[in-house]
Amino acid sequence: MTTISHFIGGQQAGDSGAPSQAVFNPATGETPSQVLLGGSDEIGAAVAAAKAALPEWAAMPVLRRARVLDRFKHILWSRQDELAEIISREHGKTHDDALGEVTRGIEVVEFAVGAPHLLKGEFSESVGAGVDSYGIRQPLGVVAGITPFNFPAMVPLWMFPIATVAGNTFILKPSERDPSAPMALAAWLKEAGMPDGVFNVVHGGKPAVDAILAHPDIKAVSFVGSTPIANYIYTTGTANGKRVQALGGAKNHMVVMPDADLDMAANALMGAAFGSAGERCMAISVAVPVTDKVADALVARLKPKIEALKIGPHTDREAEMGPLVTEQHLAKVRGLIDQGEKEGAEVVVDGRAFTQTAQGYENGFYLGGTLLDRVTPDMSVWKEEIFGPVLSIARRDSYQDAVDLIHNHSYANGVAVFTRDGDVARGFVNEIEVGMVGVNVPIPVPMAYHSFGGWKASIFGDHAMYGAEGFRFYTRLKTVTARWPRGMRSDPEFTMPTLG
Ligand code: NAD
Repeated sequence: MTTISHFIGGQQAGDSGAPSQAVFNPATGETPSQVLLGGSDEIGAAVAAAKAALPEWAAMPVLRRARVLDRFKHILWSRQDELAEIISREHGKTHDDALGEVTRGIEVVEFAVGAPHLLKGEFSESVGAGVDSYGIRQPLGVVAGITPFNFPAMVPLWMFPIATVAGNTFILKPSERDPSAPMALAAWLKEAGMPDGVFNVVHGGKPAVDAILAHPDIKAVSFVGSTPIANYIYTTGTANGKRVQALGGAKNHMVVMPDADLDMAANALMGAAFGSAGERCMAISVAVPVTDKVADALVARLKPKIEALKIGPHTDREAEMGPLVTEQHLAKVRGLIDQGEKEGAEVVVDGRAFTQTAQGYENGFYLGGTLLDRVTPDMSVWKEEIFGPVLSIARRDSYQDAVDLIHNHSYANGVAVFTRDGDVARGFVNEIEVGMVGVNVPIPVPMAYHSFGGWKASIFGDHAMYGAEGFRFYTRLKTVTARWPRGMRSDPEFTMPTLG
C-alpha cells in the first residue's frame, strides 16, 4: 500500500507513522493507498513555508508569475491523459469524463495567464489641480482552498492559478477521498518553475480544516463542498476575520416545455443526470415536464435509455457511467431511493437491481441509473441533494408551477429550460432565482472567463469563483491620490479636501 504525503515548501512531507486514512479504488473496492491526515502542525508548517515564499513571489512582476502558469499549462495539456487516469482511479468517473474535467481546469490556467491585463488598475488624471488618482489590486497574502471529492483536479484549478498569479501563496486542503490528483498538480507546478512554498498541499479532514480557519496568518479561504460544511466554513472563517467564499450543494431542475424538442431534451437529461454517476454539483437531478403529456413522452424516451446505460470501470472505454466514490456514499444514495419509494415516488427504473459482474469489479461501488416519477415537493428525494445517478420527474401543469417549484427549493446552483419559444426562454432567464441558467443547455457551467457560483444556500459569501470574480476575491483594492510639488499649496488646509 502506498502512502500519499503532504506537499509543503516544495517537498513531500509527513512520515508514514502519522494518522492516515485508506483511499479506495471505487471500481474494484480495493484500497491501493492511504493518505496522511494532517492537523494544526502540518497547517502551521505549510503557513510558514507560504509566508517565507510570499515577499519574493508577491514582488515578482506579474508577467513572470504568469509565465510560470503558462509553462504549467503546457505540462497539463501534454499530460492530460495521465491526470485523467489518476482522477478516475480514485474517483471512479470514466476516462472521457475525467478528460473533460481536466480540460475545464486547464481553461482556468489559460485565463490566469492573462493576469497582466486583468490586474491592470484604473487611472484618473487630474482629479484636482496637479493631482492624479489610481487604483491598484494587491494580493492578500497566504490564502487557502478546501475542495470536494467530485472534481479533484478541476476545483483546485478554479482557485490556485488565479490566487497565485495575483501574487498570493496558497495552501490546498483537498478531499481525503481522492488526494492523488492534487499531488500531481503540485509536482508539475514545481516542474514549471513555481518557487517552493508558493503552492502547498496538506491532506486531512476536519482537524486540518479547523486549523486553516483558526490560523491568523491565512487571510482568505475558498471552499467548495456540501452546504452544511460551506455554512460552517463561512461562519467560522469570517468570525476569525478572513475573507471567505464558500460554494455549497445543489438541486438542479430542468424545465421541459411542451414545445421543446423532446428527443433533444431526453438526450440532454441522460448526460446531465447520469454523467459522472450524478456526482456533479451541476447535475440535473429533477426534470420538470410541463403537462402530463410531456411527462409521459419524456419518461417513454428516458426509460429504455437508462436501462441501456453502460456501467463499468474507467478502464472500460465503452462505459458511460462509473461507480460511486465510496461504499458509504453508495449506501446513502440507495437509502434515499428506498425513502423516495416509501414516500410514494414511482420507481420506473430501479438502479438498486444492478450488479456488476465483470471479473475483478464485483466489489466496486456500482449503482444503476434510477428514474423516479411523480416526485412531489414533500418527498426527501426532492428536498435533499442525492449526488448519485438518480433522476426525479416532478410533473407540473404550467410554466408558473414549474418556476414556483424551483423557487421553493433552498438550493439555487444551476437550472435549465428546454423550449423553442424565445419569449418563454427570455422570461425564464430574467425571473428565475438561480445563479447559473441554461437555455437548451443542461449543464450551464460558465467558461473560465466568466464566473461560477449559485445563489441562496448554494453559496455563502459575495464572490463567485474564477473569472473576473476570482481576481476580485484574491486581491484587495488600494486607491492612491498623488500630488507632486507643482500642484502643492503652501498654506495648511483645515477643511475637507475637495481637490478640484
Ligand atoms: P464535503 O462537504 O463532504 O467535503 C468538502 C471538503 O470539506 C473536503 O475537503 C472535506 O475534507 C471537508 N470536510 C468534510 N467534512 C468536514 C467537517 N465536518 N468540517 C470541516 N471540513 C469538512 O463535500 P464532498 O462530499 O467532498 O463533495 C460533494 C459536495 O460538494 C456536494 O454537496 C456538491 O454539490 C458540492 N459541490 C459543490 C460545487 C459548487 O460549485 N457549488 C462544486 C462541486 C461540489
